[in-house]
This record gives sequence, C-alpha cells and structure tokens, in this order.
Amino acid sequence: MKSTRDPRDLEPYLTDESRIVGSADELVWPETAEEVAAVLARAHAEGVPVTVSGAGTGVVGGRVPQGGIILALDRMAGVVSCAATQDGGTMRVLPGTPLATVQQEAARHGLLYPPDPTETGASIGGNIATNASGSRSFRFGSTRRWITRLRVALADGTLLDLPRGAVCARNGRFVVPRPGKPDLVVPAPDWAPPATSKHVVGYHSAPGMDLVDLFCGSEGTLGVVVEAELRLVPAPEQILAGILFFASEERAFAFVDDARDRTVGAVAPMALEYFGRRALDLIRQDTGLPADAQVAILFEQDTTADGRDALVADWIELAARHEASDASWIAEEARDHRRFREFRHRVPVTINEILARR
Ligand SMILES: Cc1cc2nc3c(=O)[nH]c(=O)nc-3n(C[C@H](O)[C@H](O)[C@H](O)COP(=O)(O)OP(=O)(O)OC[C@H]3O[C@@H](n4cnc5c(N)ncnc54)[C@H](O)[C@@H]3O)c2cc1C
Repeated sequence: MKSTRDPRDLEPYLTDESRIVGSADELVWPETAEEVAAVLARAHAEGVPVTVSGAGTGVVGGRVPQGGIILALDRMAGVVSCAATQDGGTMRVLPGTPLATVQQEAARHGLLYPPDPTETGASIGGNIATNASGSRSFRFGSTRRWITRLRVALADGTLLDLPRGAVCARNGRFVVPRPGKPDLVVPAPDWAPPATSKHVVGYHSAPGMDLVDLFCGSEGTLGVVVEAELRLVPAPEQILAGILFFASEERAFAFVDDARDRTVGAVAPMALEYFGRRALDLIRQDTGLPADAQVAILFEQDTTADGRDALVADWIELAARHEASDASWIAEEARDHRRFREFRHRVPVTINEILARR
C-alpha cells in the first residue's frame, strides 16, 4: 500500500471546500477493504487518529485532518457491477467512485441513481458519509434511502457486511455480529430529529432503525465505507425542466404550494428548488437573467415524448396563475436542461470562489 510522509504529498489533503486547513503526519492510499482494515487496526492499537478522505468537496471540513493519518480512498474507485432488476436495478461501487461515474453507468443501463447532489466530482463514499441530498430530494429523499447494502471497516479494523435489514435496533441497541469475535453491542441513537422532511442533521435516529442508516450521514466517525450497493430506478424517458422567475417571494411560495399539491393537470415535480434574490445576484452577470427576476424556482418532472407537450402546458398554466415572468425558461432540448443544472451549480461554485478570494 502506498503511503507517504512528504509534506508536498500531504498538502492537497489537508483541506477541502471549507478552506479550513489541518495537519497530518502520514497519508495512506489503500486499494482494498483489507488494507483499509489494516490501517485502522494499526492506528487503533497505537492510539493514532485517522481521517477519512473522499474527493474533498465537503464544505464543512469533515475530511480536514487534525493530526495522525489521512486515509485517502482515491485508489478504491470503480463500479463492481450494475444490473437491472424487475423494478429498477442495483449497482455495487467502491467508495472513491465519483458520483458522475455512478450516474453515467446507471444511464448506460437505462437506469437512474435518484439522489442528485450537484457536485458530481464528490465520491460515492463521501455522499454516503454526508447523506448528501440535492434538488431531486424533493421526491427521492437523500442518499440514505438509496443504499441497500454497505461494507464498512470499523475503527478496530473489523470488516462488516451489512445488507439492509440484517441489523436493526431492538430495545435501544444494536447487536452486531462480528466474524470470529464476540457480538458488538452499541446503543442506538434516541434523540428526536427535527420535524422537517429534508435535513441531514446528526446521526440518524428512528425507532427500530437499520444499522445501514446509522452509517449513512455519520461523516466517517463510525467506520469507513469500503463498498456500497445502490438502488436504481428506471430512467425516465424524458425530463422536463424549467426555471421560473418571480417578482416576489410571496408569488414564488404560492406557486410552490400549488406545485406540491399538484393542483394543475399532471404537474407532479421531481425537483423543486428555490433561489433567493441574493443567490441570483451572485450569478446575475453571466447567466442572462431577466432584469426584474427577484426569486427563481427550478423544477424538473419526468415525462414521456408523447406526454411532454401537455405537461409543458400544465406547468405554464401554473406559472401564469402565480404571475411568473414571461421571460421564464422552459427547456426545449437536453442542452437547455444541462444549462439549467449548470445554473444551479453556479451558485455554490460562486460562493466558494468568493470565499477563496478572502
Ligand atoms: C460546488 C459544490 C456543490 C455542492 N452541492 C451539494 C449538494 O447539492 N448536496 C450536498 O449534499 N452536498 C453538496 N456539496 C458538498 C459535497 O459535495 C458533499 O458533502 C459530498 O457528499 C462530499 O463528498 P466527498 O467525496 O467530496 O467527501 P469529502 O469532502 O472527502 O468528505 C466528506 C466527509 O465524508 C467522510 N468520508 C468520505 N468518504 C468516506 C468513506 N468512504 N467512508 C466514511 N467516511 C467517508 C469524510 O471523512 C468527511 O467527514 C457541494 C459542494 C460543492 C463544492
């Protein structure tokens, strides 16, 4: 296994998109689950901290080391298998695989990996560790919902294979069978999560929860994801997308209420995302926004070639009901849709550029 203590090699791994800079003594690049386990077992025995590093696109400093060993997963990347099933498909992936690769591989099989965080350079291991979500979380929820099996290495080097349903909380604890060792008994979280449908705060907590769900969103604090199985759905024939501009928040919010409640025709959004005035101001210059746009809503909905025109008419009717700007955008071809996705991505990218200049 390649490892280094050369400060020049370590430097790119000492930070992430948060721009926080940490320090470390050693960097290792395991290539197999067993090598990950060996690094962890050694560090555990010596009392040395380990920081797991994915692609470093995190914005909260999760992969920034505070001394010890950086365990970089760049060399554990690739799709192990991808297969269609009756109602969609499954994909087995190594943790360092970029989200873009997962999306492309799914598309090649006529399938869709639904979570849609915009930073496609992130690794799937990082997405799982942060329980990443995106604009399609409106319909599909966050990453957690799409993980059917995890292979994880615990801090002492134990490797666990966890198909969903294998280990669930009972009487407030998990009893985890370990090959060749006594069962591991750990308390299950019992805090009350916020009553919002979209949040990724803290360790997952729910009565009878699955151990897989505890690892999703645990930011590498409980173990290292060394392989994952993802659930896929059939890819929609087409995706209708639009960005609608409004002169006030009130109009945009009323529009969102109606879109959510599906009050017009076949409107049933897959993605709905809000851009406030300050977000629009960040990107106003280069994106050709209508001058009076104060607020924008991005939407996506799956459709078919035959159903598309009627669906466009439904969205236009809903937009008109809430006085969306006549200069709003509806994608006419795949190129427009790509442009809308770049538009969305541009907001966090611009924020990060501003922070980098400070
Ligand atoms: C422009 C931009 C747009 C973004 N948009 C979104 C968005 O739409 N939605 C969203 O949720 N996030 C978004 N992010 C944040 C970031 O992309 C996500 O948090 C992503 O999931 C991080 O993945 P990564 O591979 O870069 O992980 P890293 O930054 O390397 O690590 C993140 C955390 O995961 C841990 N970790 C990484 N790999 C593993 C593993 N295999 N096992 C255990 N722990 C591990 C690390 O220790 C760290 O705590 C965006 C970031 C940028 C820069």
